[in-house]
Amino acid sequence: AIAVKNLFKTFGDTTVLQNIDLAIPQGQVSCLIGPSGSGKSTLLRCMAFLEEATSGTITINGEVLGFTENAQGVRERIPPAANRAIRAQIGMVFQQFNLWPHMTALGNVSEALKTVHKMSRKDAEERAMAQLVKVGLEARAGHYPSQLSGGQQQRVAIARALALKPKIMLFDEPTSSLDPELTGEVLNVMRDLAKEGMTMVVVSHEIGFAATVGQQIAFLDHGKILFTGAPQEVFKKPRHPRLEQFLDTYL
Ligand code: ATP
Ligand code: MG
Repeated sequence: AIAVKNLFKTFGDTTVLQNIDLAIPQGQVSCLIGPSGSGKSTLLRCMAFLEEATSGTITINGEVLGFTENAQGVRERIPPAANRAIRAQIGMVFQQFNLWPHMTALGNVSEALKTVHKMSRKDAEERAMAQLVKVGLEARAGHYPSQLSGGQQQRVAIARALALKPKIMLFDEPTSSLDPELTGEVLNVMRDLAKEGMTMVVVSHEIGFAATVGQQIAFLDHGKILFTGAPQEVFKKPRHPRLEQFLDTYL
């Protein structure tokens, strides 16, 4: 589970996230929607601690990430080793797959297991292979990214994140750089993951996926969450004018 409380993020004098309160329950899929520039990626990056929030707290499975904050708003940095352990519960997948071009699919998925987790080559490759099987790519294990379609590359990226055994997966527009015929295979992998009970936060313009797989939709606009709710509540008519405008643009 993730609990975001009163989160603010500023870049210089631009406030990108304001007063964000969001609860992502364990085992549920929460979808984050909103116009370009509304702060979706920044919020996800704060949850993964790729970005440090300016104030407020993010709690991952009961442990505060990055900084604790007392009632007076005084922050204290969590010691790096402890914070790394909290961060390790989070896996993230990006719009750009960011695979290493000089490594095979198996190499991409097993690399961090060997270098960061100090697993033996055999154990790392075994675990990596199991993840490739899971995303339907066992036959492509020896292929380099340039020999894979975009959808296959993204599935390798998902396998790579899953190999690290995260408790929560964050997806930032995982299908936005794919041709339409390739988005389905990636969404199917995500749907399977959701069925297994993975806690997921998904930024996506795939409204169909959000409506059918998501238990919660949060609508972000200009750095604020305008509302959250179950898909049937959020999408029911009449809709908030900003949401209507957003849906007109993306549907
Ligand atoms: P999109 O749908 O286009 O991906 P988004 O909702 O993910 O948009 P963000 O990327 O989070 O939006 O950006 C929110 C705002 O923060 C934008 O105005 C952006 O220009 C600004 N921003 C993001 N990162 C930085 C940064 N490192 N420095 C300064 N401004 C930034
Ligand atoms: Mg973004």
